[in-house]
Amino acid sequence: MSSKENLEADVVLIGAGIMSATLGLLLKELKPNLKIEILERLDKAAVESSDAWNNAGTGHAAFCELNYTPEMEDGTVDASKAVDIVEQFEVSRQFWSYLVSKKILNNPEDFIHSIPHMSFVWGKDNVSFLKKRYEEMIKHPLFKGMEFSDDVTTIKNWAPLLMKGRSREALEDAYAATSMKEGTDVNFGNLTRKMFDYLKSLDGVTSRFSTEVVDIKRSDKTTWNVSTKNIKTNAKATIKAPFVFIGAGGGSILLLQKANIPESEGFGGFPVGGQWLRCTNEEIINKHMAKVYGKASVGAPPMSVPHLDTRFIDGKRALLFGPYAGFSTKFLKTGSLLDLFKSLKCDNIFTMLGAGMRNMSLTHYLISEVLKSKKSKVESLKEYFPDADMDDWEIEIAGQRVQVIKKGKDGKGVLQFGTEVVSSADGSIAALLGASPGASTAAPIMIHLLEKCFPEEFNSLEWKTKFKEMIPSFGIQLNDNPELAVKVREETSKTLKLYPFNN
Ligand SMILES: Cc1cc2nc3c(=O)[nH]c(=O)nc-3n(C[C@H](O)[C@H](O)[C@H](O)COP(=O)(O)OP(=O)(O)OC[C@H]3O[C@@H](n4cnc5c(N)ncnc54)[C@H](O)[C@@H]3O)c2cc1C
Repeated sequence: MSSKENLEADVVLIGAGIMSATLGLLLKELKPNLKIEILERLDKAAVESSDAWNNAGTGHAAFCELNYTPEMEDGTVDASKAVDIVEQFEVSRQFWSYLVSKKILNNPEDFIHSIPHMSFVWGKDNVSFLKKRYEEMIKHPLFKGMEFSDDVTTIKNWAPLLMKGRSREALEDAYAATSMKEGTDVNFGNLTRKMFDYLKSLDGVTSRFSTEVVDIKRSDKTTWNVSTKNIKTNAKATIKAPFVFIGAGGGSILLLQKANIPESEGFGGFPVGGQWLRCTNEEIINKHMAKVYGKASVGAPPMSVPHLDTRFIDGKRALLFGPYAGFSTKFLKTGSLLDLFKSLKCDNIFTMLGAGMRNMSLTHYLISEVLKSKKSKVESLKEYFPDADMDDWEIEIAGQRVQVIKKGKDGKGVLQFGTEVVSSADGSIAALLGASPGASTAAPIMIHLLEKCFPEEFNSLEWKTKFKEMIPSFGIQLNDNPELAVKVREETSKTLKLYPFNN
């Protein structure tokens, strides 16, 4: 009979993705003596959603994502969500910049690059929307520098592939684009692995890979028992800790259900898979240098807005198009087809069914996307890159996103596209559910989690001073403080070697 190890820690972080890495680093900076156990079911960090090919690597600053700026019934454009997202991204940028300036992370070019963020539309109505959007956006200091053009030659200069191969008749249609040079591509996989390399080097931090969390139960009123099984050796262990973070990505909902806290009642997950078209032709890859976001097609969920993206992966440039959303019952790319069914419980079955009924058209859309052939995927690509040749592109499987299902105000199930921190009333356990805008906003999400779970320390002078050191704009809205916004952008750009300080 195999023996079972009994261990103790101050903090257990479940999952070795960007969220646990960010929380682990924040906690170690705030409380260097903490004893932290990191538990990961796979054999290395950042292999699920945080890996570079599993996400789009967009530093979501709301420069190019049209779904963050809806057109209102009176015809105006609402930029409030875009402002909220860019504020959050500026917090992450400042945190990464702090880590580089403290030499906790080296070579920022391994994980972040400047790349113009463009929005691109065609047709009179869309062009008029983009112009209105641009006029609204440039009123806000954080979108200063955005350019607009409805001139085909200018758009061609910004991104030649978009215009090449359009017929004379097609060019008579209306086109428009905006471009923001401050955009970024982030290799969240490299960033996460660098963060874990540093964490692992610290006293008091132990990481256990190939170690799956199989159960979480209250040990007593103030502590939790986290039960694990080593996938390779079958060895079992229990770790007792007063604080547990469930950062298991798509797997978080299943673990949260095991902890059985009242705050998790009614929550469920709706998995959305994804695929990219990945360019294999170096000549084409090198002709494009932008992230170009378009408008989502009718019925598509907001996170499947098509985009033609330059990426920096494995030390070289890459080009992808997508994502094509898809339906799968798995909660993780390496998960089980039974995941969705295992998540059905007495307390969430009605919210899940309710959300399912309300979103039948989405389910149909996802299933139709799964059934699309490579040829019809290339047809969608041709709307952005008319000259695309099917032989230059191959299909790449993206990560799984598990969208949050919860009880709406009317008590019926609703599907949400954001992220949500669910924590117990005493702050001893917290989970991150959902995936958008995700990795880009890991720092503000984890700071919000610290506020919920460690309220006294969060409000102490000691923590506030440290937060200010890590995030100079802490507690201040940059969009309302144009001078500080310029200063912070300039300093983070210098440290992270971004526009205009990139080579
Ligand atoms: C197609 C796609 C495109 C995206 N594009 C962007 C983008 O452009 N920009 C952006 O900011 N975000 C994007 N995202 C979202 C982003 O990838 C996620 O928000 C982020 O990576 C989530 O990080 P995480 O640490 O929560 O989860 P993950 O990176 O998935 O890490 C969770 C870890 O937990 C482990 N785990 C799970 N269950 C257990 C268990 N029982 N025991 C132990 N370990 C466990 C997993 O193996 C995994 O390593 C995208 C996501 C997808 C899928």
